[in-house]
Amino acid sequence: MKNIIRDRGHGASLRLIEDFYHEGHRKMEEKNYVGAALHFRAVNIVYETADCSFPLSEDTKVKIDHAIQNIIECQKKIEGSIDFTLSKTSFTYAMQCSKRLFLHVNHPKEKTPPDEKTIELFKLGRTYEKLFKDQFENAIDVSKHCGRNIKQYPAFTFESLNEPIETHPYIASNQVFFEAGFCYNDVLVMVDVLQRDSDENYEVFEVKLYPEIKEVTWWDLTVQYYVLSNILPHIETFNVVLLGENQSFNIINVLDEVKKRLPFIEEKISEFKNMLSASEMPAIPMGEHCYSPYTCDFVEYCKRTF
Ligand code: SF4
Repeated sequence: MKNIIRDRGHGASLRLIEDFYHEGHRKMEEKNYVGAALHFRAVNIVYETADCSFPLSEDTKVKIDHAIQNIIECQKKIEGSIDFTLSKTSFTYAMQCSKRLFLHVNHPKEKTPPDEKTIELFKLGRTYEKLFKDQFENAIDVSKHCGRNIKQYPAFTFESLNEPIETHPYIASNQVFFEAGFCYNDVLVMVDVLQRDSDENYEVFEVKLYPEIKEVTWWDLTVQYYVLSNILPHIETFNVVLLGENQSFNIINVLDEVKKRLPFIEEKISEFKNMLSASEMPAIPMGEHCYSPYTCDFVEYCKRTF
């Protein structure tokens, strides 16, 4: 969908209403109820905020009414707790080695716990991410509400995003969410910072504690974009926040690049899901890939069992 909601002219508004309405139906048919509800909601946001001094056709009026009813239908079908097959983390494990994903899912107790250096790096990453998040005021932090119950993140996120339209004034300020959770096609992702402006356009920020984008970063970002682009009505920017000088934030919009990489990542998602459903451990020998881009936490297991 190329249109953005910012254009509230007569013709543009009618086109947006049509586009969001049809996309909402398409998503409803594929049982993507969160995506469908957010698109039907966008129909109403456009209608409420556009220049409506023009007469609407009967057909458009019917669509607007349907959109409101369909939001309610979708709400009934959105489950409070979801099951998922892949997460962003497990997807990147699989990109390193599909056997690593298999072991992560089926034999998690065989993992070697992280060493002190790795734990320290995790801590530094969280501190840097917090510094970035501290710039946003009045954010809704999904992790504070759902804690470790990550299966509940998508439902809570949807409730927060789907606030009643009448409480969303024309000139509402930006809304910010930390760790917003979304699931599409059995892939669950959480967004470091998601910002929605008063025109319903979304901006995504993923924070990384390193100064440049690596190949593993693209895997991580593109799988995230795959899920979000199938749910959110309009992603305006998709940003990676890299470590700048003196712990500053180097923000790069990588929207065009993740779009280019999407077909490859979609193929990989299917491949990994098929591998997991076949329940057969991939016969992959140890090699350099066990230590790149990260040291695999099954190295000791593979050494013992190979
Ligand atoms: S140790 Fe190597 S072969 Fe074994 S699961 Fe990890 S990456 Fe794959």
